[in-house]
Amino acid sequence: MAQIIDGKKISQDIKDELKEKVTALKDTGTEVALAVIQVGNDPASSVYVRNKKKACEYIGIRSLSYELPEETTEDALIELIEKLNKDETVNGILVQLPVPKHIDPDKIIRTISPEKDVDGFHPQNVGKLVIGEEGFVSCTPAGVIQLLKRSGIEISGKNCVVVGRSNIVGKPMALLMLRENATVTIAHSKTKNLKELCQTADILIVAIGKPQFITADYVKEGAVVIDVGIHRDENNKLCGDVRYEEVAEKASAITPVPGGVGPMTIAMLMSNCVESLDRE
Ligand code: NDP
Repeated sequence: MAQIIDGKKISQDIKDELKEKVTALKDTGTEVALAVIQVGNDPASSVYVRNKKKACEYIGIRSLSYELPEETTEDALIELIEKLNKDETVNGILVQLPVPKHIDPDKIIRTISPEKDVDGFHPQNVGKLVIGEEGFVSCTPAGVIQLLKRSGIEISGKNCVVVGRSNIVGKPMALLMLRENATVTIAHSKTKNLKELCQTADILIVAIGKPQFITADYVKEGAVVIDVGIHRDENNKLCGDVRYEEVAEKASAITPVPGGVGPMTIAMLMSNCVESLDRE
């Protein structure tokens, strides 16, 4: 049976380390503050925003909450972001996505100052990741790297297949694995012979967005399998992109859903907020 990579514990360790750091900063009179903006009241977004605020509270990060009505104009949102960009007491700005249809998310992402872009979505931060400069990195893939490292899994020199090429998960994931000296292949919906390709992976990272798509026959004996997907199955139970039970029989290590990658995203967001201070 595979080693179960415990995202709940690892994310808690990270939050505790951050709490210590933030407390020490407070003693020197420095406060960390995150502005969280939600436009409209999409129920899933409200849950994410609530969890982010809870994590801020736990660590001691001041959270400024902006709950704007659905009909908020793009201009009004931009005006608020620009005000927060200039506010020296605010270290991080996060606009919960998706935004309502009349607002262009790319324009919003580009409005956030790259120095406060704790989600790591601004093209300037993405560019820094490409050229290997320090900048904010998208939280979910950054969380996967922490899961691997803190579980003692060697990345350097390993064959890694990342399935999925979205801007928020797949692409930054592949770049981070490359930074860690893995040999990386990115697969997507047009990839031929996906199963055979996945079978070559020492580390298989799956971010497809299709419930239980990856079965045991995609996985090499002894591979490490990271499942980024989150879904509800027909019984309303949480599941990932990987068929956990059968893949766990073959893998050497695997992330469960829930309790794997999921909790890492918020922990890394918090880490980005605190890190922003180190760069000033
Ligand atoms: P997207 O839908 O943006 O991207 C999915 C990617 O998978 C695309 O690149 C797509 O290829 C590829 N893909 C789709 N079908 C196939 C297929 N049959 N074979 C190979 N590749 C395929 O999803 P995200 O990257 O945003 O998210 C992926 C999953 O991760 C989702 O389940 C999401 O809920 C979850 N997620 C979890 C987070 C967490 O905190 N744990 C955070 C973010 C996401 P193509 O580009 O060709 O269309």
